[in-house]
Amino acid sequence: MLNKKSVDDINVKGKKVLVRCDFNVPLIDGKITDENRLVAALPTIKKLIADGGKIILCSHLGKVKTEEDKQTKTLAPVAARLTELLGQEVKFAADPEVVGPNAKAAVEAMNDGDVILLENTRFRPEETKNGEAFSKELASLCDVYVNDAFGTAHRAHCSNVGVTEFVKGDCVVGYLMQKEIDFLGNAVNNPERPFVAILGGAKVSSKISVIENLLDKVDTLIIGGGMAYTFMAAHGEETGKSLLEADYEDYALKMEKKAEEKGVKLLIPIDTVVADDFSNDANFKVVGRGEIPADMEGLDIGPKTAELFADAIKGAKTVVWNGPMGCFEMPNFAKGTIAVAQAMADLESATTIIGGGDSAAACNQLGFGDKMTHISTGGGASLEFLEGKELPGVAAADDK
Ligand code: AMP
Repeated sequence: MLNKKSVDDINVKGKKVLVRCDFNVPLIDGKITDENRLVAALPTIKKLIADGGKIILCSHLGKVKTEEDKQTKTLAPVAARLTELLGQEVKFAADPEVVGPNAKAAVEAMNDGDVILLENTRFRPEETKNGEAFSKELASLCDVYVNDAFGTAHRAHCSNVGVTEFVKGDCVVGYLMQKEIDFLGNAVNNPERPFVAILGGAKVSSKISVIENLLDKVDTLIIGGGMAYTFMAAHGEETGKSLLEADYEDYALKMEKKAEEKGVKLLIPIDTVVADDFSNDANFKVVGRGEIPADMEGLDIGPKTAELFADAIKGAKTVVWNGPMGCFEMPNFAKGTIAVAQAMADLESATTIIGGGDSAAACNQLGFGDKMTHISTGGGASLEFLEGKELPGVAAADDK
């Protein structure tokens, strides 16, 4: 059970609070094209303002490799938009050194309840190396530290891990981070049963540790998407031109055996939507298990499988989903993913958790965004949580 100190456990009145946020938003010509991450950060920031802290926000934005990147990866537009969203000034501490003279002067001039934003932490190359000097500089700005950036929790960088070594006061998590820990950490490790996990997406190889870890915890494991074909091929079935990782066929059989030994029901597709091209305009049809034509590829689970999976989800008390059932980006091959999302949305008293990345995108894009208990904000981080790994960004926060 992860029991971390949060912003509710500290007193920040009059204190300088460094808050690591995830403001890694898409920018086109300096304009923010998706502000979900900014909106998601507001509850923690508002709480700290209301409590009278001096709030120093920091975040990374994209990758900074060249001097040119610094022109396009500045956080200045984020400060401007946060000012509008919060209804109070978020002063941008423009400083190429991130924690240089400008930033220090801006911090010194703060009053209780003021908010400033530092420049992109990746302007400092040490950031991603978790270097000591930059970690110390960041820590020198504040009395207490809050980490609310789940998207980077699986990485050990200065602004989310190194800094916590040198902050004298508390190092706690914000509301966003707390929610991710509650659902992806605690709900998955102490699930209300029946517990069903649904895995899909392109490859078995990228989800090996997730399958292994979940087989120790779930009652039912559903496998769809591109990764299902490796399981079919492992049984000697024709998979045509479908995605296949032949090197992982033995592994697929091993996982089936492990499921059997553990009493876990493992379901793979019993029919498939096959197409003659990887395109929404392709000719397509439904075929039964083992009947994929050699010159076609599977792009979605078939209607019988959708029914089988929906039935398996019915009655579940905890459901975790990571990876689409097919190429949901193409409407002709989105039906399987919609069916699974619908089955989860129909559950009346269950905890439904969506891993970040493609599953979160599929859920939002298909209109199920507000029907789930929790949609993770971190792709890589949520996958590592489901692998049962300790995330450095979470581990670095103080325990209660
Ligand atoms: P992942 O990042 O591993 O979760 O993979 C997500 C991607 O897998 C999405 O872009 C889907 O379009 C793709 N995908 C799902 N099912 C299939 C399939 N049957 N064939 C090819 N790609 C697929």
